[in-house]
Amino acid sequence: MIERLDRFMARANAGYYATHDPFKDFTTAPEISQAFGEILGLWAAVTWQLLGQPDPVLLVEAGPGRATLMADALRAIARVAPAFHAALRLHLIETSPRLRAIQVERLPGASWHDSLATVPDAPVLLLANEFLDALPIRQLVRRGEGWMERYIGEAGFVEVGCTASSILPRFAREGELKEGAIVEISEAAQQFAGDLAGRLAAHSGAALFLDYGPEHSACGDSLQAVRDGRPAEPLSPPGSADLTAHVDFAAIAEVARQAGAAVHGPVPQGLFLARLGLFQRTDRLARNQLPARASALIESARRLAEPDRMGRLFKAMALASPGCSIPPGFEP
Ligand code: SAH
Repeated sequence: MIERLDRFMARANAGYYATHDPFKDFTTAPEISQAFGEILGLWAAVTWQLLGQPDPVLLVEAGPGRATLMADALRAIARVAPAFHAALRLHLIETSPRLRAIQVERLPGASWHDSLATVPDAPVLLLANEFLDALPIRQLVRRGEGWMERYIGEAGFVEVGCTASSILPRFAREGELKEGAIVEISEAAQQFAGDLAGRLAAHSGAALFLDYGPEHSACGDSLQAVRDGRPAEPLSPPGSADLTAHVDFAAIAEVARQAGAAVHGPVPQGLFLARLGLFQRTDRLARNQLPARASALIESARRLAEPDRMGRLFKAMALASPGCSIPPGFEP
């Protein structure tokens, strides 16, 4: 019995998120600094104004984890943008029952969905941090003049003749692909972006994705596993480790444009957060704190923004309705 990599990854992550507290294994930006969620909340508030203040408007988060980002965002929105706070309806896309239970505690009054499909068709602002990287990928390997696809067998990866010609052309044009080169495709991520972009073309709205991955589509195996806080073998028993892969922002941008949305970025996370006032907000939070707490706050902001830490590999990319002006942080 062999299983295609994306199906293995979907099964592995469903098992992992259902049985583990992922935040024992890895730390995400909202868990590092409260300023992160606050800034994203204010991004949504300003973008809502650019969209002409649709009321009601859905505030959607995909993959809310422990709900920290949204709790911080809502607190900032309530304080700074009460009209947006009054107009918004909270919808969360989350498949893990375990994480949903945490979200219910922290975000009473929200509605939950397994996928975008059941979120009402209406003006929307969507936030997603480290969501796309958890969606399953397929891996194709260049062999001779053609392609093989990676499946998982009992003894590890198995290569099977690839018939998926529809997913190849982006890379097939690139003549320099060497024997054994690996390309990755996340149909799940592309489908999410395409469905969302279709909504943004039909109703006013915008979405902000923060995730890690290169600016241009690149070859290579980026599948990684984390177990007990440490890098693990990606093919370890499904459900025992968290599996992620680099997000192909260029592929997502292309799909979104074809579906009628405008695309802004990607820009490096460090630049994006700095433009939106990460350091000013952090200084503000650090004021009147004991020195140890103040330096911890400043250190967290640096971790999010410095290029050799999370500032460069992580990127921000926005999708928006075609008529919307450039959302904050994406100025050329
Ligand atoms: N955004 C949070 C959590 C990131 S972890 C943070 O920044 O801390 C990835 C999140 O996406 C988890 O909440 C996980 O349960 C959820 N998730 C993973 N795959 C999903 C899928 N296919 N559909 C919906 N949610 C998914």
